[in-house]
Order: sequence, then C-alpha cells, then structure tokens
Amino acid sequence: MSTASTPASNFIRTIIDADLATGRHRSIVTRFPPEPNGYLHVGHAKSICLNFGLAEDYQGKCNLRFDDTNPEKESFEYAESIQEDVRWLGFQWDGDVKWASDYFEALYSFAVELINKGLAYVEDLSADEMRQYRGTLTEPGKNSPYRDRSISENLDLFARMRAGEFADGARVLRAKIDMASPNINLRDPAIYRIRRAHHIRTHDAWCIYPMYDYTHCISDALEGITHSICTLEFEDHRPLYDWVLDNVSVECHPRQYEFSRLELHYTITSKRKLLQLVNEKHVSGWDDPRMPTIQGMRRRGYTASGLREFAKRIGVSKSENSVDMAIMEGAIREDLEPCAPRVMAIINPLKVTISNFDGAQAREADFHPNAPELGKRVVPFGRELYIEADDFAEVPPAGWKRLTLGGEVRLRHSYVMRCDEVVKDASGHVVELKCSIDHATLGKNPEGRKVKGVIHFLSCEHAIPAEIRLYDRLFTVARPDADREVDFCNYLNPDSLKVVQGWVEVAVQDAAPETHYQFERLGYFCTDRRDHRPKDRLVFNRTVTLKDSWTKEQA
Ligand code: ATP
Ligand code: MG
Repeated sequence: MSTASTPASNFIRTIIDADLATGRHRSIVTRFPPEPNGYLHVGHAKSICLNFGLAEDYQGKCNLRFDDTNPEKESFEYAESIQEDVRWLGFQWDGDVKWASDYFEALYSFAVELINKGLAYVEDLSADEMRQYRGTLTEPGKNSPYRDRSISENLDLFARMRAGEFADGARVLRAKIDMASPNINLRDPAIYRIRRAHHIRTHDAWCIYPMYDYTHCISDALEGITHSICTLEFEDHRPLYDWVLDNVSVECHPRQYEFSRLELHYTITSKRKLLQLVNEKHVSGWDDPRMPTIQGMRRRGYTASGLREFAKRIGVSKSENSVDMAIMEGAIREDLEPCAPRVMAIINPLKVTISNFDGAQAREADFHPNAPELGKRVVPFGRELYIEADDFAEVPPAGWKRLTLGGEVRLRHSYVMRCDEVVKDASGHVVELKCSIDHATLGKNPEGRKVKGVIHFLSCEHAIPAEIRLYDRLFTVARPDADREVDFCNYLNPDSLKVVQGWVEVAVQDAAPETHYQFERLGYFCTDRRDHRPKDRLVFNRTVTLKDSWTKEQA
C-alpha cells in the first residue's frame, strides 16, 4: 500500500553491479526454487522478495521452479498455494512455472554422461555401510569396494535401476569425487536413489529420483540462471554445485551465492515444524493467523506491501538474521497507518446510560484524519452506549485521563460526557454507568474548562455484533526450537488466541473479506478471509496493536 522506496544495497547487488559492468552478464536471471512440500513461511517471503526483487530492479527475470524430487511429501495443493503466495506478494515469475521434473530425462542423460566419463558409479553398499565408509569431520572416508566398477557395468546397472530391477534403497548412483575430501559433501555423494513413489507429475514413470544437490545446479544451468541465491547452509555444497556443472555438458555455469536465513523471534521457520503444528492441531491450519506462513500472515491482516517493506528493512547479508517481531509489526503498522479507515469498536463493553439524552445528535466523521478521500460516515449517538470497560476506573491511578466518577471525557467524534453514578451488581462489579452529556460540546470545546481524555464508544442501538479474534505470540520463548532435546510444542503460548464477542460501527457491516480497519485505540484489524460474511457474520482478526508492546515487555 505504501510507495516503494529505493532498494538498499547488499553484497549480492554489489556482485550483480560488477557482473553487469564487466560484461560477464548482460542481464540477470534469478529463481525461487521451493519444494512443494508445505506452505511458504516468512523466511520464504524474504527469499522471494530478494530473488524477484532483484529481477525487477535490474529488469531481469526470475523463475519460479518447483524442486519436486521427493515425491512422497509433495502435492499440488502445496504447489498451488505457493503460486498464490508469490502473486499475492506482488511478483510474477517469467514464463511458465518450471519444475525440476521437467528435467528428469535430461538429468538422467547427464548421469549417464558422468558414468561414461568415469565420474559416477553404482553403489551396492547399504546406507549404514556407506555411512561407515564416509568417515567424519576429522577422519577421511575410504573408498567403496564398488568404486572401481567398469563403465560398462555401471551403465548396465544404472539402466536396470531405472528399469525397476532392484528394490528401493538397494543401490544408489554416486558421483566419484574424493572420499578423502575435507568437505564431506564431496565424498562421493549419492546423486540418484531408487524410490517407488507416486510422483505428482511424472506419476509412476520413474522409480529412481535425482538428489537435490545434483538436480538443483543442473536445473539452474538449463534455465540460464545467472545468480543462484540460496541460504548459508548450502555454502558447503557449493563445491559440489560447481563440480557437477564442470563435468556435464551444460552451456551455462550459474554462480551460487549464499545469504543468512531469516529467523523471527517467538516463532519457527521450518516447514517440517509448521506441518507438525498443523497435524497435531495446535493451530487451525496452515493459514491460522498465528502461523508465520504467508497464508497465515495474510489472513491475520499483514499486507503484501508491509511484508515487502519488512524484507527491505531486515536486509540481506551473511551475518545472523535473527529478527525481533517488533520489526515486522512496525513495518505492518506503518503500511496500514495512512490507508486503513478508522472506526470504533468495543471489545469489552461497559454499558452507559445517558440521563439527559433528549436532543442529542449523531455527527458525521472522517474515516481518516489525513485521508479525506476515504470519505465520511455518520457516528450515531443514543441513550445507551457501550464504552470499553478499561476506560473507566472508580479509583483512578495517578495521571488517569479517562473516565472516573465525577470526571469528564470526550467521546470520540461526539459529546463531552460526565459520569454521575456507578451501578454495581451484588458482588460489587461495575455493571453500568449513569452519565450526562454537555449538549454544547458537539464538535466544540467545552466552555471554561479543559477535558483531556478521549475515549471511543458505540451507540448500543446502532452497534453491530462481531466476533473479534485477538492474537498473541504463538510461543512463550524467543527461540522455541533452539534446544533440539526439547519439543518446541512445549513452548506454545496457551493464550495465543482469545475470541471475544464485541461490537462494531454499522459502517463496517458491508466490508468484504480482507478489508483493513483501524479500530481506534485498539489496533489494526482485518475481516477474516474464511469466516467473515458481510452483513451476516462479522469476524475481525487483530492484525497488530497500535503501539509496540513487544520491545516494551522485553525491556
Ligand atoms: P524449510 O526448512 O522451511 O523446509 P527449505 O529451505 O527446505 O525451508 P525450500 O522450499 O527448499 O524450503 O525453500 C525455497 C527457498 O527459500 C530456498 O532458496 C531457501 O533457501 C529459501 N528459504 C527457506 N527458508 C528461509 C529462511 N528462513 N530465510 C530465507 N530464505 C529461506
Ligand atoms: Mg527443503
């Protein structure tokens, strides 16, 4: 919603600038390569903004490529949600969606090429034996007894792997690199495995599947990617990326660059763990507004432009990118502030009866003090009002500016009101206030005195009931998955969702799903994508409070 600011520089842009200046590339091609095995999360949003953002800024191209090499975990549901998320974030990939499975035949031929060059062999050792032969970080591995098979035997066995002659896991194809390499990724990594699994696109055409490291670099090369940007855990895989491309007949050799992955406090950024939250029903689904998924954040009311601004603010580097939620919320608030219409809602009502109501009038008010184009609505007044229970204190603390017995406040967009009497139930709880208004104060300051406090209110007769969902952080600790020994679910916040029946202005009753509002003094809210129905059932999600409660609580 806000206007785009100029992109901040980062080491990848510096590399691209140099590549364009030296003529190494005339234009750039990046890609975003998710595996369709879950919904995208905020970390992916960072990667999307980086890859698509670079293509946009440099007038290059960015591909969306599904890395669909693990058939058991992948589905079209995930692939579709990923496409929806990329588009919602405001990006469009170049041409058709690409799939690693488009290259299965080519990948197979390149593997045959490696065998013919004496650079790949069929392994008969079991997975356990392979592990024993691999060595450790401090000890070199040792060669497999099958490493020196003849080329013709390897060609024959690999063809028979493909033909389905061997059981799952009975054999693998390995790259023949160096069992003594200090980099374990180069100790003859497996590049094909046997797996009889139904694939969403190739169905049962294949019973062997290429491994990620082998597939990824070749897919990049076939697509003419110039800058293959990934997260830092792939830094040690880069020599393998380069080895494969140096040894197969592809025309282009993309360069891989690594940046640090985003970690957002009080949440988790791992599809596997998010899936666990869904499967164990700790949340209502992938799009639960407490989830750090793009779908969840969207449903909660985070805006695409706010998320893009967040990505800009956290930057791109190789140093740790562990980010406080306050940065995200600041970006979202700033995005919504200038454009979300402001209305009144009551989440914890206390009834007020106006003793001198006769002659009181409704008043027209702007939806936004600085955005007249958002229009106006009538703010109705009535004999009975709701105010927020917290806005009344019988025994006010020092500096209290809101309502108290005998005190006055301004009702937002309406009269100055005095509390004359407090009504309590048998147990001493305040259940109602009897108040009077100063009829001379509609749109005018009172004569001869100052009234400091302003509170929001609704006329009971005109208010519309609404379900209001208030969210808090999903976990009680900043890094719920820091300790591998402890299940992160132990740190789930039992109070992360509070559903209240509240009241809203009649002006919002026609709002379509995914409409953003500021509820004055309460925060930014968004009508729910799934459950909200205009006029019929109003459901609002609190996107974010108005003030930053995160940093303060932690200070
Ligand atoms: P997860 O561990 O959540 O499954 P992943 O890296 O396995 O994530 P992919 O689908 O392979 O998921 O990711 C697609 C792209 O998104 C990759 O290029 C990956 O580097 C990037 N990515 C994933 N998580 C993050 C993160 N937390 N921060 C930045 N980029 C990320
Ligand atoms: Mg992955």
